[in-house]
Amino acid sequence: METSAALAAVRDACRVCRAVSAGAIESVTKSDDSPVTVADFASQAVIVARLRAALGEPVIVGEESAETLRADPRLADAVVAAARVVWPEADRDAVLASIDAGAARTSEGAYWTLDPIDGTKGFLRREQYAVCLSRIEGSAPTIGVLGCPNLPRDHQGPLDAADPGGSIYVVQQDGEVLEYGVDGHDHTVVPRATATLEGELVVTISVESGHTRLDHVEQLLRHLGRPSRTIRCDSQAKYALVARGQAHAYLRVPTDPGRFELVWDHASGAAIATRTGMRVTDLRGQPLDFSSPPRLTKNYGILCAHPAIHGELLAAITALGYAG
Ligand code: AMP
Ligand code: MG
Repeated sequence: METSAALAAVRDACRVCRAVSAGAIESVTKSDDSPVTVADFASQAVIVARLRAALGEPVIVGEESAETLRADPRLADAVVAAARVVWPEADRDAVLASIDAGAARTSEGAYWTLDPIDGTKGFLRREQYAVCLSRIEGSAPTIGVLGCPNLPRDHQGPLDAADPGGSIYVVQQDGEVLEYGVDGHDHTVVPRATATLEGELVVTISVESGHTRLDHVEQLLRHLGRPSRTIRCDSQAKYALVARGQAHAYLRVPTDPGRFELVWDHASGAAIATRTGMRVTDLRGQPLDFSSPPRLTKNYGILCAHPAIHGELLAAITALGYAG
């Protein structure tokens, strides 16, 4: 029930993002200098409205709040128009209220976390971005939905272009991970990690260098001395690349050791990668601890890797002094 409500909500939000992406994308700059678009707000409005309709008043720790929109009625109206793609009766009051109902910053117990568009810069380039919704119980995600509207289900497809089909990953109650397209109900089970690692080592990293030491990742690969290559990709689509076997590892080495990661930037992706048998830890080998939203205050960086290479990567991270 909760999983199907979460999947339906993410699907609708993916449709909204695609509709916005088909035209000129209106964006503004947030106080932290990062971009936010009409689609970020509309995606949060739609997902929160859908979850509340299905589940009552869940605690939702989502990235956006409606403050900017209250000060800019014209932008608010553009958000309402985008939300109406899947929510025809939406009006300004309902949309703003919905966004704010998803802006909790703490939780005493279980909560949902939402990144309505993770990788907004990728969204603006019509490349990879993700709609990420997850439920946390205790310190870990129990439900995870990762919508990647520009990620081709075909592993040979390009990552730097809009995709007509897209991919959505959902953790099932029995632990399996299913892969759907944005539209349609045909799905496949994502196979679990194979026992051994074959071929060259493939590591996926951010496009952005502002928050990740891409130079340290390059140094790490040289240190390992294995044939290797990197895939640059925005958003939690990186976790999907590892989960589905297209990359062996996703590494995030912080540029600012004092900044903790945000829960909504990792919960869905970590849930999906974990359930396909990958090991998801921080750079010290500790499991990710989602129990203190909005940040992962007990963790440093991210190492999501195939179990056959996780230990070797962790040892190299420690040897090179990248564990903070
Ligand atoms: P990526 O797509 O891997 O480049 O990650 C994008 C996410 O990085 C955004 O959603 C931001 O929340 C997050 N972010 C921005 N600045 C930082 C930072 N200094 N450290 C860690 N994450 C950040
Ligand atoms: Mg994000």
